Amino acid sequence: MLESRGLARAMRAQLKTKIRLFAQERGYVPALRVLLVGEEEDSVLYAQNIVRWFSNLGLRSSLVTLPHDARIQQVMAEVSLASTDPDVHGLLVQMPLPSHLDYHEVFCALDALKDVEGLHPENIGLLASGQPRLVPSTPLAGMRLLDEYEVPLGGAEVVILGRSNVVGKPLAQLMLQRDASVTLLHSRSRDLVAHIRRADVVAAAVGRPKLVTGEMLKPGAVVLDFGINFVGGALVGDVAFDGAIARAAMITPVPGGIGPLTNLMLAENLLLAATLQADRADKLS
Ligand code: NAP
Repeated sequence: MLESRGLARAMRAQLKTKIRLFAQERGYVPALRVLLVGEEEDSVLYAQNIVRWFSNLGLRSSLVTLPHDARIQQVMAEVSLASTDPDVHGLLVQMPLPSHLDYHEVFCALDALKDVEGLHPENIGLLASGQPRLVPSTPLAGMRLLDEYEVPLGGAEVVILGRSNVVGKPLAQLMLQRDASVTLLHSRSRDLVAHIRRADVVAAAVGRPKLVTGEMLKPGAVVLDFGINFVGGALVGDVAFDGAIARAAMITPVPGGIGPLTNLMLAENLLLAATLQADRADKLS
């Protein structure tokens, strides 16, 4: 099983050391700002949790909230503030944004070196051209787990279900860089099962409980389950775990697989962003 809790503990300890060293060397602790638009209960909880989680790790973090009906100008003003404030090193925009706001417009206005979510077009372009800089934390977590368990990717058939900008597409780029042969599936793809059946590595990032079943898998496949679904109050992934584990060589459990690593990757991104900004300031001075 691709269990991540032990790895998460080790990464947390390493990150704390890196943060201490960064602070000693530069004289400040990197700071995350979280921008929340709206009052949706789950989003408020998530935003508050992430601020607390970053603080507990030894980083600084703060939450800025705007009402659900905030105009794009108000959101842009907050993005501009975060971009120009030298005491903010990363901005996380809580998703989903209310439907009248276009997240592309929001990310375009952000300083690309403060884009800890890897959603600024410059960071997306760098990843697509094989020079990753700030990359979304969830696919990074999946790659970190595969590396921990030494899953070979060179020449492997990798099938990814889901083509979002946050998970599926950046994961495909990361896999390509590791010389995998990648197939990216989505809601309009024909014959999902035929694709899944020949895959050495299957990554499911769809948001449909138990869409992938054990019978669909090639025996010995490695399965990454990114799904977060609540069914009858229980957290389940996109893969039917019991059937899949009988057939797969390795599979990430939900919970306890990808999830515990994603915030850690986000914190790594904040440290990287702060370092990139410090280097830019050095070059300009
Ligand atoms: P999303 O933006 O809703 O994208 C879902 C993708 O799945 C889309 O590309 C969609 O295709 C595709 N899809 C939908 N139904 C399908 C079907 N029946 N067959 C094949 N593809 C189908 O979701 P997301 O943000 O990428 O998140 C995906 C899942 O990962 C969710 O459960 C989410 O909660 C979870 N997630 C987990 C983490 C973590 O930290 N573990 C982080 C982020 C997301 P179209 O493009 O054609 O619509």
